[in-house]
Amino acid sequence: MNQPTTDYRPMWEALGLDLPAHDALLAAIPVLYQNAYLTQADRPEGMAYFDFVMSEIHGLRIKELVDHRAAGGIVVGTFCLYVPEEIIRALGGQCVGLCAGAEWAYGEVERILPQNTCALIKSFVGFKLGKVCPYVESADLVVGETTCDGKKKAYELFADLAPLHVMELPQMKRPQDRVLWRAEIEQLIAKLEEVSGLELTAENLAAATKEVNDKRRALQRLNAARRASPVPISGKDALLAVQVAFYDDVPRFTAMVNKIADELEVRVAAGEGVAPADAPRLLVTGTPMSIPNWKLHDVIEKAGAAVVMEEMCTGSRYYSRLVDESPKDLPAMIDALTDKYLDINCACFTPNSARIGDVIRLAREYEADGIVQCDLHFCGPYQVEATLVERAAKAAGIPTLRIDTDYSVGDIAQLTTRVEAFLEMIE
Ligand code: SF4
Ligand code: SF4
Repeated sequence: MNQPTTDYRPMWEALGLDLPAHDALLAAIPVLYQNAYLTQADRPEGMAYFDFVMSEIHGLRIKELVDHRAAGGIVVGTFCLYVPEEIIRALGGQCVGLCAGAEWAYGEVERILPQNTCALIKSFVGFKLGKVCPYVESADLVVGETTCDGKKKAYELFADLAPLHVMELPQMKRPQDRVLWRAEIEQLIAKLEEVSGLELTAENLAAATKEVNDKRRALQRLNAARRASPVPISGKDALLAVQVAFYDDVPRFTAMVNKIADELEVRVAAGEGVAPADAPRLLVTGTPMSIPNWKLHDVIEKAGAAVVMEEMCTGSRYYSRLVDESPKDLPAMIDALTDKYLDINCACFTPNSARIGDVIRLAREYEADGIVQCDLHFCGPYQVEATLVERAAKAAGIPTLRIDTDYSVGDIAQLTTRVEAFLEMIE
């Protein structure tokens, strides 16, 4: 991974970052990336783009955001799939995901949050308290959502640290819940119009909807190629593509992913892959994996198996559903957004049987030999739902492995042993 050649320190200082702490964070990521990514054989050539993106993770992209703001645009930070990127883009905004996948400033975090809070929440609070995230420092507005209790309460503390708008997400999907969710989307529109000084119109929303759908279509193409045997791209690389989708420039990202999909389709036609055709194929499901959390995929693939699909927010939940582009008037377009976003299957909903159906369907479509459920410690919604996934997999005759972990590296040896034992069992 090349180091950036531009000196971004004045920009980071102007954003208010703690430079020594930020240096320490930036020194750690290339080591993780080198070990997980650059040791892989036969990567698609198009992944060079993602190597470049990772080398500039706090550099060029942040410069683009700073320039965007200087030109009058806004930057909006989000933590969850339920926040419609289409509205942000229609109002001239750049949407950036703020979930982080590394332990940071936990000492300070645990002074305000219980120790038994999931790593995702601790991490986003730690990145803010530790002043090491240029994305959150670039945001004109952060949009939260009432998904799980931990996040919802953490936002009450986060509101003291950043400009925040919280959407109330229903926990069921009945007609009255849809009415509530549509009203929340209307409120978000009003808030973003206030912050951006622009008005949402059928024209700007139609253009943004097409643009974000194109991004999802590109990811659908890339991931469709993973049905092939041998699999033409590693799970780690496919995961990275979705992780980067949360903050990269949308048209550029779409073009680059389509280029990789072209390459994968040629590989599939030629019967070329990154793992032997008889390597065990695994579907991974559970809580999201944000950069630089590549731990489980790395363990699985170094143990000789191939991750062929992710049913998670950094996976199929991000790209599998499109917004209907046929409505032409603004109220009908907002209806289409309401329906698309309420159709995402997060474990904070009850019941959430559609997610379990998705896991089994995807495992069959991708010919997975096993399902690995990976949930963060202390994540009640996903850890409880894991039992229902396990039952459904058993009924479908698909072996499962259940892993509860966090962002630390201390359990890698134990995870490796468990994954190897699981692979022996299914082979
Ligand atoms: S797991 Fe649920 S709460 Fe977390 S990002 Fe996904 S949809 Fe949002
Ligand atoms: S991983 Fe679980 S506990 Fe953590 S923010 Fe997501 S839903 Fe909440």
